Amino acid sequence: MIRSWSLLTRRFGSFAASNGCCLPARMGAVRPAPCRLLSSSPWWQQQPPQNPSFPRKSQAQPLIPLTSKSHSGKPGHDSRDNDRNREDDSNHTNVNPPRFQWSRQHTILVVGSVGLGVYVVFHLERVPFSDRLRIMDVTEATEIELGERHYRQLLARSKVLPASHVFSRRVAEVGSRIAAVADKPQFKFEFHVVEDPSVNAACLPGGKVIVNSGLFRIIETDAELSAVMGHEVSHAILRHSAEKLSYGKILNILYYALMLTVGDVRFFYNLITQIAFELPNSRKMELEADRMGLILMARACYDPSSAPKVFRKLGKGDSRSAIGAYLSTHPVSDDRIQNIQKHLEEAMQIRADHCSGNEDFAAFRSGVRSIFPSRFAS
Ligand SMILES: [Zn+2]
Repeated sequence: MIRSWSLLTRRFGSFAASNGCCLPARMGAVRPAPCRLLSSSPWWQQQPPQNPSFPRKSQAQPLIPLTSKSHSGKPGHDSRDNDRNREDDSNHTNVNPPRFQWSRQHTILVVGSVGLGVYVVFHLERVPFSDRLRIMDVTEATEIELGERHYRQLLARSKVLPASHVFSRRVAEVGSRIAAVADKPQFKFEFHVVEDPSVNAACLPGGKVIVNSGLFRIIETDAELSAVMGHEVSHAILRHSAEKLSYGKILNILYYALMLTVGDVRFFYNLITQIAFELPNSRKMELEADRMGLILMARACYDPSSAPKVFRKLGKGDSRSAIGAYLSTHPVSDDRIQNIQKHLEEAMQIRADHCSGNEDFAAFRSGVRSIFPSRFAS
């Protein structure tokens, strides 16, 4: 999806608001603790602290006649009795810590952790383009099957524009050019436009693309449309959905392990995994799709310099604060544009290598479409 950050921002915003009182309450609970350590007697009457586990001979001996009734100090008193009594006293003052008991739960936890670690290591791979390390344990065939099923469900509950509609025709044409250079023969690419006023688009695994009609409020040329289509198709090529499924399973296992051993940690678990892992990971995926989308549109002979314009339009009104950006699934527009600008030269070179002579015609056709949009209407 192009933008769904506002929903998450709201969610975390309310999270923070509802728990704002927790911090002072906790601090209040911590503060009295040092007071209990203070003695009511003046410092000169206080005895030095003694470690009951390691009594020093020089300290322990003078205390014995004063504190123990049996140690009268009378002549003839057996020294063995003194030793025995000292041992008894020592036993009374010793506070033995509870012994650690190894249980079956611990065995399951250790064996499970080792097994999970080995499983994760054997399912690590590098993401093409970015070289990022990730977990992947979903086969491409499974992913494509899931995408196909979900796509049919989405179309069934949406109002799909007819294939003859100008939006559908533009999407089909740009999409087929992107698909032709995607180098994914196993994908069955499909492109549909649904009636939805929100500016958005999505691609499901296997190359199933859905574009909202609202996107055409900001899209002027086919090159701009190719930037969006390239981005969405890149999510499918880079297998971002399968990646989410893969790490989702590992996070679920960790969650249940914590529930069994620590207790109900749902709130903290969700908060930590979202902020520390899922949201940053999602933003990385978006930047990867932006970069690969740029390459795809260049290979398909669209002008890559249109991409920053599109993301500038998409980011209009993006006034997220630093915290808002951190709690978002998508990077801020400025970061996306900066990322695209960084790879623009590479994309221009690819276009020059792949499309000598074709780019002028593509630009001309896009220009004509944008000047006379009604001419291409059904
Ligand atoms: Zn995206």
